[in-house]
Amino acid sequence: MAFSIDEHPSPNVDDRPNGCTVDCLILHYTGMKSASAALDRLCDLDAKVSAHYLIDEDGHVLRLVDEHRRAWHAGISYWRGRERLNDCSIGIEIVNPGHEWGYRPFTEAQYRALEHLCSDIMVRWSIAPCRLLAHSDIAPDRKEDPGELFDWQRLANAGIGLWPKDGEGAWRPMDEVIRQLHEVGYSLPDPADWRAPRRRLLAFQRRYRPERVDGELDQETLARLDGLLAQTDPLE
Ligand SMILES: [Zn+2]
Repeated sequence: MAFSIDEHPSPNVDDRPNGCTVDCLILHYTGMKSASAALDRLCDLDAKVSAHYLIDEDGHVLRLVDEHRRAWHAGISYWRGRERLNDCSIGIEIVNPGHEWGYRPFTEAQYRALEHLCSDIMVRWSIAPCRLLAHSDIAPDRKEDPGELFDWQRLANAGIGLWPKDGEGAWRPMDEVIRQLHEVGYSLPDPADWRAPRRRLLAFQRRYRPERVDGELDQETLARLDGLLAQTDPLE
């Protein structure tokens, strides 16, 4: 099947701030009952949300916002020292009802479309592998998408994004893990919110240890974190 993109402009768009160029690619699920409900919302002026692309379950790709302009998909967000990720990112919405409406596996056609689209975007904008992100990575207190059924390892095997080789996984306290997750890119937890540290660990597991997302500090989770740290440049 030839890869094609159809145009379906959303009105929910504005200009990127001066000096902001694209350096992140962020994946979402739509979290709506149907693809058409999601498309309506992403083009509804009152909803004030959008994304650059929407990928239906049959692999059909719509472009809602030109990559040079700012789409409104990230909301309050943080990664590696930067806030407001909409300014510098491209957002892709993948159709899936999500945890609220019957979460189910993403389709083969969606992965094929993503492999085309992500590698094309990452090459054209020179996006580093460590900057292919889940919405849950940049907003761990609010978001779970695209969630533990999304196969990041498959994308990494196709040369898109990172997948950690297991490291040593020596035990360490939660404070140290949170500091290391911050080194990878996650925001520091609000000290007034006692649940916030665990939500960062859940976001990490959802992405890199999807077989068990339980917020527990086990050896396998720590081994994957070690593996990811080995592939992460230090924060400047
Ligand atoms: Zn999202």
